[in-house]
Amino acid sequence: MNWSYVIVHHTGAEERDAEQVRRYHLSLGWRDIGYNFVIERDGKVAPGRSLDLPGAHCRADGMNSKGIGVAVIGNLESHPPLPGQAASLLELLADLCRRFGIQPDQLLGHREVRGAATDCPGRYLDMEGVRRELAERLASEEKVAYQTPPSQDGEIPTHQA
Ligand SMILES: [Zn+2]
Repeated sequence: MNWSYVIVHHTGAEERDAEQVRRYHLSLGWRDIGYNFVIERDGKVAPGRSLDLPGAHCRADGMNSKGIGVAVIGNLESHPPLPGQAASLLELLADLCRRFGIQPDQLLGHREVRGAATDCPGRYLDMEGVRRELAERLASEEKVAYQTPPSQDGEIPTHQA
């Protein structure tokens, strides 16, 4: 799998937890939950399907094998993410961007994927805002790295800030 996108979903329902979503997907005959990560109501990030396997969350544009599927529990067409969920979503997305070298503009809401016909992840999830915050967060981390003082043995960083 060559993970180069992150696709953000809502579950569209008000499940209790990731386990309930998993049981539902298994009842459809799937081999596991379709998403790679699920953000529960209290903001806990529950691991979903292994990243060693293609997902089952966005068939459009072949995203199941190149886009990591992250789902926020709830119907975000009718209410915003809960406060803990919003914070965890940004945290998780920043982590995935770092781990897989994914750029913020490759974070897409499900409905933004070419060929997808869906309202997912709901009108209360502002993907433009998410991408902007992610870009700022990742840029400020880079800045911190550049400002690291010379190491003890007097080595001077060669790059220009
Ligand atoms: Zn979706």
